[in-house]
Amino acid sequence: MNIDAIYKHLNESWNIDSILIKKAKEADIRCDEYFKEIEGNEFLHQLNVLSIFQKHGLSEYHFAPSTGYGLNDPGRDIIDDIMADIFGYESALTRWQIVSGTHAITCALFGILRPGDLLLSITGPPYDTLQTVINKGKGALTEFNISFSTVNLNEKNSFDYKEIEKSLKLKPKLIFIQRSCGYSWRKAISSEELSECCLFIKKHSPETIILLDNCYCEFVDLKKPAELGIDITAGSFIKNPGGGIIPCGGYLAGKKELIELCASRMTAPGILGKQGATLGMNRIILQGIFIAPHTVSEALKGSVWSAYILESMGYEVFPSWNERRYDIIQAVKLNNPKALKTFCQGIQNSGPVDSKAKLEASRLPGYSDPVIMAGGTFIQGSSIELSADAPVRPPYIAYLQGGLTFGHVKIGILNALNLLIKEGKENK
Ligand SMILES: *Cc1c(COP(=O)(O)O)cnc(C)c1O
Repeated sequence: MNIDAIYKHLNESWNIDSILIKKAKEADIRCDEYFKEIEGNEFLHQLNVLSIFQKHGLSEYHFAPSTGYGLNDPGRDIIDDIMADIFGYESALTRWQIVSGTHAITCALFGILRPGDLLLSITGPPYDTLQTVINKGKGALTEFNISFSTVNLNEKNSFDYKEIEKSLKLKPKLIFIQRSCGYSWRKAISSEELSECCLFIKKHSPETIILLDNCYCEFVDLKKPAELGIDITAGSFIKNPGGGIIPCGGYLAGKKELIELCASRMTAPGILGKQGATLGMNRIILQGIFIAPHTVSEALKGSVWSAYILESMGYEVFPSWNERRYDIIQAVKLNNPKALKTFCQGIQNSGPVDSKAKLEASRLPGYSDPVIMAGGTFIQGSSIELSADAPVRPPYIAYLQGGLTFGHVKIGILNALNLLIKEGKENK
């Protein structure tokens, strides 16, 4: 079907405002060169993932479920080997039992740090849910006499080398870098910035270990975390690397001795990664990893397209539609709580699941402000599926991300903007 006819249909049968239809057509054309670039990267990622699956000799018997202790589970082992390779490392710990990204990162923090050690974040305050892990929650790191300090990003939202150098004199055991923007108004950290920073850290404090919070960044840029000088990285399977297929879990990938420390914490010292029944999860985990480059590519196209249309409707966004991307997140400033809620409601109404749900901001474990979350996802809380969430605080920014298909992101953003336009007209 001709695209003009589809837009006509959206206008006439879905009541999408004509101004949005005009902008959508414009976005299709203007964004095309960026889509080509994204598709090129997807192809390379797909080639890489495929060759890694083949190199490790993935075979049907790896899909067999294990129960109980899960001893001798070759499928679990090959998933670890594949994930290690994807990120350029010798080891990985990939488990459905890791409940979230926060849990994966927590395994790294508690696995590596010891009483008396210093943890240093050099990308400002870490993601909301990690603050309880570090110093605000029961059983937090600080209760174990582990100290924590922060260096903020500079005014250009890049590394503040002067301050980092000062802090490195304290010989931090572990440096924490959050690559994606999380819930803050900044760009994701580029590969160039990351590799420069890792060199700087190792030059001034060679013993310091570098941990990368890789959430939302997997399969976006072509450089592997290991190539950038990162020692260990972690993420969630209900974001990029799960491809929208893996129903739960997380991963850690890094140097062998570090992954062992994390495994000691995730299971128990001595047991490490050698136990953990997979209950038939292996196939779906592998399938998700395999499809992840494509899913991420669809989500990225959605972000670029959304940024274009939001900008042309006068909203402030981050990053801009034509900026280079290192994560899948598209932030948009809505400026007031009502518009924020309406925007998220429009995304919720566009989901394949619970599209009729009425959104309310609510308090969530680990978050300091009430959060509005628009999901409508197959997998609960999955943010590689089209979703928008926002801590309700000025300047009322919505963080839009994911999309199993580019088409779905288009529909979602058109619906959300349409709802805002409708609301604007009613309020006149
Ligand atoms: C999602 C995310 C996490 C972990 O969050 P979970 O909801 O626990 O998976 C950590 N850091 C960043 C930057 C994230 O985006």
